[in-house]
Amino acid sequence: MNTYASSDSVMFTSHRPAKTFVRGEGSWLYGSDGRGYLDFVQGWAVNSLGHSSTVVRDALQAQAGRVINVGPGYYNEPMMTLAKSLACLSGLDRVFFANSGAEANEGAIKLARKWGSSRRDGAYEVVVFEDAFHGRTLAMMSASGKPQWRKLYEPKVTRFVRVPREDLAAVRRAIGPNTAAVMLEPIQGEAGVIPFSTSFLRGVRELADEHGVLLIFDEIQTGVGRTGRMFCFEHAGIRPDVMTIGKGVGGGVPLTALLAREEVCLFEAGDQGGTFNGNPLMTAVGDAVVREVSRPEFLAQVESSGTYFAAQLAALSGEFGIVDVRGKGLLLAIELNQPVASSIVDAALELGLLINAPRPAVLRFMPALNVTCGEIDRMVEILKQSMQSLLL
Ligand code: PLP
Repeated sequence: MNTYASSDSVMFTSHRPAKTFVRGEGSWLYGSDGRGYLDFVQGWAVNSLGHSSTVVRDALQAQAGRVINVGPGYYNEPMMTLAKSLACLSGLDRVFFANSGAEANEGAIKLARKWGSSRRDGAYEVVVFEDAFHGRTLAMMSASGKPQWRKLYEPKVTRFVRVPREDLAAVRRAIGPNTAAVMLEPIQGEAGVIPFSTSFLRGVRELADEHGVLLIFDEIQTGVGRTGRMFCFEHAGIRPDVMTIGKGVGGGVPLTALLAREEVCLFEAGDQGGTFNGNPLMTAVGDAVVREVSRPEFLAQVESSGTYFAAQLAALSGEFGIVDVRGKGLLLAIELNQPVASSIVDAALELGLLINAPRPAVLRFMPALNVTCGEIDRMVEILKQSMQSLLL
């Protein structure tokens, strides 16, 4: 490691272990000490094809040799190609590319307010859910229901109306003349991988139709193959009017997107945009990743690896005080009967495994979508050892 690589000048935003990672390959990340770590975090579910996959590297290299950024005022080929394929895959009509999940979600709220102002008598409110997580811009922190943020960065952006999860009657009561949209994550990832039921999602779709409001799905974490389908909404057999995707669509590079039905695409020139949005370098990578992930055989493999992984986790239940195994595809979590998840994360790190604890009693797993059963077995083995020291 070079001698200038010290953390002194890095602004504090989170507690990071005193380790520096220098190289990654597939499901493995290597520290500056040369040690290999089995990575079931994968950059927070972004490296959908694992670390430094050839798909991502080849696309980056080829596009870097052509053109990197033509600016947001012009079309470029990868942007148009990727927009077309995401529109075809999702059944939505148009795509706006962004650089972070929060930014894509901001775009969704702007679109909903624009739509509400011209199509629903000036409606501007958005119904959101307890424990939701939509990102870290001021508006998205206001939309999120993370308990620790309740008093942070006051005053909040207003007009988000919060309701309890799975409570259809509360959603119905919250929808009024000022409501433009209902927004949710089909599986609340940061809350601890908590899925909405199919019946609830169908019920919300019906309510949105009945009242003429938009349904927005934040699929930043669940989209692009993570749950074994291209988009999580497919499991429920419904389609949102607006959807955001992020994380996995770039296979590790910063790329996210806002998708919407034609009637909702109401931005006028200058309403939305940004210097880097839709740049050809990132969208070329996105195109390569989406081509790979959307193959039916690839998605079938995600589903079967997820089923295998969930079964291995369920097999641990009797031994370690695991009270729930949940999630879909390769977005899985276990809930423990004690708030010791972060100690297990620390123990696992020492044993060479990267996992994450979104809540005090919840461990979350988001491996590469092409993780092998052998890597899952190895992971479960290290997880067992990590839990043994703390829970037995
Ligand atoms: N929405 C969901 C469901 C997420 O899981 C996240 C990130 O974890 C975000 C939005 C925010 O994305 P980003 O961190 O790229 O802004």
